Amino acid sequence: MLKLASGMSRLGTESAFEVLARAKALEAKGKHIINLGIGQPDFQTPGHIVEAACKALRDGHHGYTPANGIPQAREAVAANLHKRHGVEVDPSHVVIVPGGKVTMFFAILMFGEPGAEIIYPNPGFPIYESAIKFTGATPVPLPLREANGFAFSAEELLSLITPRTRLIIINSPANPTGGATPEAEVVKLAKGLANHPDVAVLSDEIYSEMLYGGRKHMSLLRFPELRDRVIMLDGWSKTYAMTGWRMGYAVWPASLVEHATRLAINCHSCVNAAAQWAGIAALNGPQDEPQKMMKAFDERRGFVVAELNKLPGVSCVDPAGAFYVFPNISKLGLGAKALELKLLDEVGVATIAGTSFGSYGEGYLRISYANSIENIGLAMQWIGEWLQRRNAA
Ligand code: PLP
Repeated sequence: MLKLASGMSRLGTESAFEVLARAKALEAKGKHIINLGIGQPDFQTPGHIVEAACKALRDGHHGYTPANGIPQAREAVAANLHKRHGVEVDPSHVVIVPGGKVTMFFAILMFGEPGAEIIYPNPGFPIYESAIKFTGATPVPLPLREANGFAFSAEELLSLITPRTRLIIINSPANPTGGATPEAEVVKLAKGLANHPDVAVLSDEIYSEMLYGGRKHMSLLRFPELRDRVIMLDGWSKTYAMTGWRMGYAVWPASLVEHATRLAINCHSCVNAAAQWAGIAALNGPQDEPQKMMKAFDERRGFVVAELNKLPGVSCVDPAGAFYVFPNISKLGLGAKALELKLLDEVGVATIAGTSFGSYGEGYLRISYANSIENIGLAMQWIGEWLQRRNAA
């Protein structure tokens, strides 16, 4: 009998991948499935980015790169952050990693251990809680509420800090709710953190380019007083439709850069060299394709919210960002997981139960609108017909 390390039994998962596998298995049996489960843009990576990777391979970029990323990529990130957030970033504080998730795992590994507490959003990206538990630290949920547009309350967050708190994780715009925290609340948080100088913050800003209705993103990098303890996570996956390239980055405080680089050396050595050149082309090149993608997402957002609100027993608030909606399904008399299974097996629509994002997700479903408006319309029609049959029975 193999004896695994105890952390393995505490490691969770991301059910979006399980739902995807189940949906594919049903499709293989000939069933028509509409996938509103997966969290990735249904667009191709813009051509000039693909070309930059091909060119890098032709030019001989085949070897290891520095563990923290090639200097040109780190400089491109710093310039991009200056353009988007108006902040000065030292390229030597940037660490390029294979996807945003790696920054998350590194930050949690750095601060998590038995006895430590880490505050994380719930419902939130499932890997936060999973990785916290893996390290043996205590996960402390920060509830996100529909009544608050799924934005976090700075006051509530600050009230959860104890002498054991090592790290706070925030995510805006958020997965799975699409909620975005208003600027005033971020300012309140930054002010309150002055009273907790030993607490680090992982600010997951991977959806920062995906805000609607003229909203502006407020990066935690904008607070000079927090720069010695903010880890700002961002990347290419969502903005440039590059989920499969595995390209992410973080800006680390000066005192943590070496630790992050050392974790990279122990873990993956460096990111794929050609992908890094593609990442430079993405940041420095034309932005019209990501803008087109956002226009399409915005249109679908309005459509899916309107359609969901027409369904009996379902209500849905307008999401501020990302490409998810988080409808309230508590009046349907089914748990979120049971509804997810029925919608996939009986209706042919893949969605994700709110509980896959933490206990505070009960009563909700995550729907990704990274699918064509025609497919979204058809899925809403199928769900509506199924609800009518169910109500009539
Ligand atoms: N952070 C959040 C909130 C996400 O939703 C995701 C991906 O779904 C990530 C980070 C990770 O992104 P990547 O694919 O770059 O690892």
